[in-house]
Amino acid sequence: MSKKELCILLSKLSVFADPSMRLEQYPTDSEIAGDCLWFADLQGDIEGKTIADLGSGTGILGLGALVLGAKKAFLVDIDTKSMELAMKNLAFVEEQTEKHFNAVFSAGDVIVFDEKADVVIMNPPFGTKNENIDTQFLLKAMTIAPVIYSFHKASTKDYIDKLVADYGFKTTHYKEYDFPLKQTMEHHKKKIEKIKVGLWRISKN
Ligand code: SAH
Repeated sequence: MSKKELCILLSKLSVFADPSMRLEQYPTDSEIAGDCLWFADLQGDIEGKTIADLGSGTGILGLGALVLGAKKAFLVDIDTKSMELAMKNLAFVEEQTEKHFNAVFSAGDVIVFDEKADVVIMNPPFGTKNENIDTQFLLKAMTIAPVIYSFHKASTKDYIDKLVADYGFKTTHYKEYDFPLKQTMEHHKKKIEKIKVGLWRISKN
């Protein structure tokens, strides 16, 4: 599968019908998700690995990792409607690729998730509505896996780098994207608003 084919497949996934503002439900753009997953695969972090997608929403990151050859993916989300959406998307990618994937769905708060994985790949809430939730996701991720890919607001760069350093991890790669927030939420005036978002690859020292 080429990167372009991956992005096209991901662009066909179903998205939140009625996104919750409180849970900061906005799907990762398919081009950005594809770029992140392709990059992770080039680092040797996908094929044959067990992945945990925290705050999985539509499942785009965890399911995309399975499509690229991950052995297993945990999809964790507090919202049962999102879990159902991700299950529907799993059926869709299995049908499209004619493969069976090992996806494990875990409905509940990420704080109580207690499995281990090789790699966490996540686009968690940014903490706009629920202050510090981005930090909570990251702290949790560091207990789950030695390698983490995580999206956060680019403005938090110094804070994140210092936080992970305090816990014995380091930022090995960092890239930025213009993130389209497509879903119209009350506090977004324009239909498509863009924000600068960073993708961190963090690994244990
Ligand atoms: N990862 C998806 C969705 C991002 S939106 C994507 O990249 O498209 C953030 C997701 O985190 C939402 O699906 C929301 O329901 C979930 N979420 C918010 N708070 C959570 C919590 N405390 N525990 C688990 N999931 C949570």
